[in-house]
Amino acid sequence: MAETATAKAPQAHYSFFHGVERNFDKAAQFTRFEKGILEQIKACNSILQMKFPVRIGDKIEVIEAYRVQHSHHKLPCKGGIRYSMDVNQDEVMALASLMTYKCAIVNVPFGGAKGGIRINPKNYSLFDLEKITRRYASELVKKNFIGPGIDVPAPDYGTGAREMSWIADTYASLKPGEVDALGCVTGKPVSQGGVRGRTEATGLGVFYGVREVCNVAEDMKKIGMSTGVEGKKVIVQGLGNVGYHAAKFFHENGAIIVGLAEYEGGIYNEKGLDPDKVVAFRKSSGTLLDFPGATNIAVSADTLEMPCDILIPAALENVINASNAARIQAKIIGEGANGPLTPEADEILNAKGVIVVPDMYLNAGGVTVSYFEWLKNLSHVRFGRMERRFSENQNNNILHTVEGLTGKKATDAERKMMLHGPDEVDLVYSGLEDTMIGSYHEIREALLTSGITDMRTAAFVCAINKVGVAYEELGIFP
Ligand code: NAD
Repeated sequence: MAETATAKAPQAHYSFFHGVERNFDKAAQFTRFEKGILEQIKACNSILQMKFPVRIGDKIEVIEAYRVQHSHHKLPCKGGIRYSMDVNQDEVMALASLMTYKCAIVNVPFGGAKGGIRINPKNYSLFDLEKITRRYASELVKKNFIGPGIDVPAPDYGTGAREMSWIADTYASLKPGEVDALGCVTGKPVSQGGVRGRTEATGLGVFYGVREVCNVAEDMKKIGMSTGVEGKKVIVQGLGNVGYHAAKFFHENGAIIVGLAEYEGGIYNEKGLDPDKVVAFRKSSGTLLDFPGATNIAVSADTLEMPCDILIPAALENVINASNAARIQAKIIGEGANGPLTPEADEILNAKGVIVVPDMYLNAGGVTVSYFEWLKNLSHVRFGRMERRFSENQNNNILHTVEGLTGKKATDAERKMMLHGPDEVDLVYSGLEDTMIGSYHEIREALLTSGITDMRTAAFVCAINKVGVAYEELGIFP
């Protein structure tokens, strides 16, 4: 799963895309762009709706699918492919537009896109899923909707590295000799041109982002907390890709995971929970309930209301809403999931002075590391391959010189730490950390200088400013 943007269950007469437009309009008032530029930023540039036949068993099934390229202000476009029965054009348009803003916020030089196939993947055999995926990929090739310089999909709800591998292979076989073919899709397995660090990227990005929020002394003082994540009490909802990795990185960096929630219930222990132990326990027993030393919370959603400093909803949309927002005790909410807060909850929590770190920024680690994967595919070389040995030799020379000058020897552990040259995963983590820190301060700057009172609107303002300038500088055709 990856590179997703806010998901909402389709409701009668509810347009998710118009909802995004409304948030955009709220933020646009704080920008300087003329109406025409704002209208262009909001519009979806290209929409491809497909219907194609696939033989499933002894029947032919007509599959409905989409790819929407929201913005061509930077190319390629980028965004995940979702397999779900909720897929429809409005949803794909909304998710594609959110990808444009997400990429802009974290300075990933892509336009936003999204794709979807209206199927429940659980209803198909592996063989059929491969057929559907490959047919979808060949439709994208036919219409020029995929390619390393055109549009680069990634995993999202219902898809993963396996589907990305099928897409890359289909693309490469239809474009023989295209040397950059692997860059047509990201989120691939490492053996198929993927990058190390991609799996945990979103959860790690959530950790880096919240840690940066906690590192600003002035802001922490306002909410009556000390700086740093160490010792902070954290509750995480969802132990999937995002939630598990976020919990793991908080735990490893000295935060106390006091609560964890899954769909079957929650557990709470103010002395702390080890996420790896909880995951192992859940795997063997089928539930996280009755985890040794923890108190059970029968209604999973009640876990969100337990005492903590930081709350990370990392499962579903709309989990914090008008009915429970007032009872949330956390002073910082980090949106690991897409759209976990309803607009009503946003208002209630903002009024209470809670810092809400928005999804559009906080869960952008996946697309950031996808960008690194794309760069790796275009450069045809693993990150670190050219410099690792050189750095280790340099470090060794420095260490020898220091030992010679001081007459002291480093211990084995010190030596290992000092000599280590960067591997691919080190560079990916470092690039992600830099991105999350830098982008947070851009959002904070917008918050402090424009009279905006919430970080979500500030994040939108950052995105609109960057995309708007790109359109202005592109020039508008006479
Ligand atoms: P996932 O399927 O790996 O994990 C979701 C977890 O939430 C599962 O363990 C599931 O059992 C749990 N869950 C389901 N219902 C629950 C409930 N009622 N209460 C508590 N837990 C419940 O999905 P994921 O990839 O971790 O994505 C989670 C959220 O993060 C989604 O909103 C997704 O759009 C968003 N996101 C994911 C990525 C990514 O890289 N994976 C990137 C950006 C945004």
